[in-house]
Amino acid sequence: MSFVGWFVADVLALASVSPETATALYPLTWWSHAVLALAFVAWVPYAKPFHMLASFANVVTADEDAGTRLPRVPEDLGPEEIGATDLDSFSWKQLLDQDACTKCGRCSSVCPAKASGRPLDPRDVILDLKSYREAVDAGGETVEIVADGGAASATSGTSSDSSDGRISVIDSSTMDSCMSCMACMDACPVDIEHLTHFTDMNRRLTETGQMDDGVEEAMMNAFQHGNTFGDPERKRPDWTEELDFEVPDAREEAVEYLWYVGDYPSYDDRNQEVAKALATLFERAGVSYGILYEGEQTDGNDVRRVGEEGLYEMLVEDNAAAIADCEYDHIVTTDPHSYNTFKNEYPDFSACEWDAEDVSHYTQVLAELVDRGDLSPRGLDGTVTYHDPCHLGRYNGVFEPPRELVESTGVELVEMPRNRSDSFCCGGGGGGLWLDHEEDTKPSEERLREATEDTAAGNAVDRFVVACPMCVTMYEDGRKTGGYEDDVEVVELTEMLVEATD
Ligand code: SF4
Ligand code: SF4
Repeated sequence: MSFVGWFVADVLALASVSPETATALYPLTWWSHAVLALAFVAWVPYAKPFHMLASFANVVTADEDAGTRLPRVPEDLGPEEIGATDLDSFSWKQLLDQDACTKCGRCSSVCPAKASGRPLDPRDVILDLKSYREAVDAGGETVEIVADGGAASATSGTSSDSSDGRISVIDSSTMDSCMSCMACMDACPVDIEHLTHFTDMNRRLTETGQMDDGVEEAMMNAFQHGNTFGDPERKRPDWTEELDFEVPDAREEAVEYLWYVGDYPSYDDRNQEVAKALATLFERAGVSYGILYEGEQTDGNDVRRVGEEGLYEMLVEDNAAAIADCEYDHIVTTDPHSYNTFKNEYPDFSACEWDAEDVSHYTQVLAELVDRGDLSPRGLDGTVTYHDPCHLGRYNGVFEPPRELVESTGVELVEMPRNRSDSFCCGGGGGGLWLDHEEDTKPSEERLREATEDTAAGNAVDRFVVACPMCVTMYEDGRKTGGYEDDVEVVELTEMLVEATD
């Protein structure tokens, strides 16, 4: 039974329209309805309702690993085709991303680069790419997608006309500003994958030699020495000599935990304390563990994010080969950046013999050791706050193990307003550690302000706890430059646990 037809018949009867008149009018109403419906469908791509369709399609086709696992460069691409070369280089998903943007600005409101006054607004980058495509479709002139000294950074309203002095849609400084923190993607209500666009643009800049000097030096160091510091490879395990026990060599004996130490804990003076602390905790817990000594190379997570895919692939092969020569049950990393790429990206390569579930961050392993009673932290007091590193928390959802460890020491843990997946980047990701930015307030300074002013404990927070060596470097710097040296101490979780165990 047709309820609508019944209802319409009743309405027509009430309006005194005879069945004969209604029958005569039927073809007219049917055709006008059909034409109107078809016209609406044809109009949708040029009008606001298109957002609804594009947004829905974008959510349905979203890649849940986007950002944490960057796409590989197809092997058959020549150097002139790598990255964001022209409009044809965008995938269908990237074009859909651009069409799906509702201009809500949520990504911009959480972006630490924008908050620090850097020339980056993630919404404007997406919209500028879309505006450019529309202008070219309408017959406008083509320019580079991204270039050094190109467009004034993402300001919306990109011109495709190079007569206004622009040589590109997006300027390289816009890409240099991004910390790959993924806050924009996490905030986006329609699942736009900003980082796949940014990676392609970074790959183009790298391929054409338009890299920031600091990043270029770090890449050259990684290529020549296997670490971003440019120090000799043989010095990688020097930190072990300062311990009163011998750190086992995983290349010479079978171990349960193969510990990938990473660049910062190996070479950076401040972070060597973190490496020593974690080794001490493994010893105290009596676990079977070992390191690769000079067999390690830099993990490549941030090498990949600044666009150096060729170098990244080389590092994957070298690290995977070094690990393949060892007998181990599980891989554990100090650095959340190593954790992310070992867990989510290395398994994409045939050289890698492990799966995602074979990799843990040290906070997960230590939390298990505390649970099992192999470590018994206690006896600390004071009020602390914990900063979620982007690559551990937002990237990989590891929020609770570090908190359980902090609380196991006896201190009071208070949360900053921006915690867990809403955490605010330290500024070190995406190559940020290797760049110098002109900023009124650094992201690390803003975060320390939040820790010392905005928690429920007011200004009572005496320790700012992190679980990432890069965060240690960024926050030790922010503590000095922001004038927080008398207010709060920056401490790595391993250091706190050494203090709380014996
Ligand atoms: S990844 Fe982070 S820094 Fe980069 S655009 Fe997104 S929010 Fe901004
Ligand atoms: S959050 Fe997503 S939809 Fe909103 S402006 Fe940013 S990219 Fe566009």
